[in-house]
Amino acid sequence: MYRIRLFAIRHARAFEWIYQRVERVMVALDPVFARIGYARVERPVALVERAVKTVLFDCKMCGQCVLSSTGMSCPMNCPKELRNGPCGGVRPGGFCEVRPQMRCVWALAWEGAGRMRGGDRIREVLPPLDRSLRGSSSWLRVSREKAAKLREARQAARTAVAQAFPEARRIEPATAPLAEEPASAVNREAAGR
Ligand code: SF4
Repeated sequence: MYRIRLFAIRHARAFEWIYQRVERVMVALDPVFARIGYARVERPVALVERAVKTVLFDCKMCGQCVLSSTGMSCPMNCPKELRNGPCGGVRPGGFCEVRPQMRCVWALAWEGAGRMRGGDRIREVLPPLDRSLRGSSSWLRVSREKAAKLREARQAARTAVAQAFPEARRIEPATAPLAEEPASAVNREAAGR
């Protein structure tokens, strides 16, 4: 497992790419998940997530995955479970103070982040761990949040346009006239096409 974890960090860029694609698919599946019910899909998705990420990253299913901010090095493998950088006890060569045979997960995170396009995210301070989310699917939660934000943004854009035109006509009718329908469109409509 440890070797596979190191492999994932060495190939952090490739895993970043894969993660972005998986996330897009999950976001696109939001209407399906919503129809089935997020509570119902939680268990099967969490099982798949656990299986995949345990093999690749020694995932502990904390429920708030930060791999994309930590160079694909899971911080929950730190014996102190530090989420914002290493402690002061890192040994020479970047080895762990508690488990000297293991490289510090944060030394590895720094190396992995250097290989990633979004590697600078390692500089952002991560929020404290919410232990009530332990065992839940990060994939599902993140994709659900992103889908909700996309919906809100689309709705806001629609509302803004709908509000802008009447307002523009009221203030200065000449700048927002009602457009004439092109003759071709009118003909097509009349012909039922
Ligand atoms: S950060 Fe959490 S969800 Fe992500 S691999 Fe580590 S334990 Fe698993």
